[in-house]
Amino acid sequence: MRNISRRHFFFRTLGAGAGSLMFPVLTSGRSSSASKGITPLIVTSHANETGRKAMEAGWQVLIEGGNAVDAVEKAANIIELDPEDTTVGYGGLPNEKGVVQLDASFMDGRTYSAGAVACLENIKTPSSVAKLVMQRTDHVLLTGAGALEFAKAWGFREENLLTEKARKIWLRWKEELSPDDDWGPPEHLKDSDRKEAYWNDFPAPEHHYGTTNVLAIDSRGDIAGCTTTSGLSFKLNGRVGDSPIIGAGLYVDNETGAAGATGRGEDVIKSCASYYIVLRMKEGRTPQQACEDALKMIAGKYKKVNPLFYPAEKFVAINRTGETGCAAMKGDRMPEMSVRTAEGFSIYTGPVVFPGK
Ligand code: ASP
Repeated sequence: MRNISRRHFFFRTLGAGAGSLMFPVLTSGRSSSASKGITPLIVTSHANETGRKAMEAGWQVLIEGGNAVDAVEKAANIIELDPEDTTVGYGGLPNEKGVVQLDASFMDGRTYSAGAVACLENIKTPSSVAKLVMQRTDHVLLTGAGALEFAKAWGFREENLLTEKARKIWLRWKEELSPDDDWGPPEHLKDSDRKEAYWNDFPAPEHHYGTTNVLAIDSRGDIAGCTTTSGLSFKLNGRVGDSPIIGAGLYVDNETGAAGATGRGEDVIKSCASYYIVLRMKEGRTPQQACEDALKMIAGKYKKVNPLFYPAEKFVAINRTGETGCAAMKGDRMPEMSVRTAEGFSIYTGPVVFPGK
């Protein structure tokens, strides 16, 4: 276990899009004034400029006395509506057929209610539809055509979610997928003409992962959370990830805290990872320790099957006293999370639990 007793701030600039903005960066468990009372806060796994904007908007809801559910929705919508973000909502990378299918879940710790949508097409803000499933139905999960019908009944407009950027990334993936299919220029052309010459002008798939989790505590101490995603890029048509599965991509418990997941959803589903993290917090682990526990638990499951397999996951968590945690399984970059409290905006950085894997 990493020593998380160090507490210090330092400033650094964020990457693309952050411009000259300087943010405080928090590198260990957040010092909470929560022992004295309730500490409203809102966090997101998106540690970029859109994440910062989302946190400011969500925070505004909280300081105006709004509830955690509304703050989370406000923040999630900002990330979903960013056309440049290819991992969430509008502009998300499509499935193998070039169709954007979105997954989202919502949970309200105050009422122990949950709602989710899976494989939802043509609606830019699936988190808001998930919230309505939670508040206006006696069900938890709606999928595909049924989810769309429900959204339309509530007045959501159908729109094309596939941006030019996402479409070109998908087309490039399609052409480079396999030498055996018929996508791409004629076979008699040289390999260099068939692929590189054309696609040099278009972006290569940047990643296959990406999702956002938003978790908040309001001034009454109520906790809510949302996870929203376009899922694994180029996934099979109809594939549902962890994000809309309560207990996997998201879990909220008013008495303990909340957790959310991003990364390879299949493992998050099998391990019920967000529920596991909240359970660990209930047993006394800090959010930071609980996130790391979940990653070790998942890696442990593969020890006998394939000891070299470490699925790419990132977890974020908060507890009811306002402590935060974040950790990733592997990767070159330390995992980050945006945090907004009365102390201001900060980036929280957690550890990579299995570096070099
Ligand atoms: N967890 C998401 C899914 O499996 C994808 C991601 O976070 O990258 O659908």
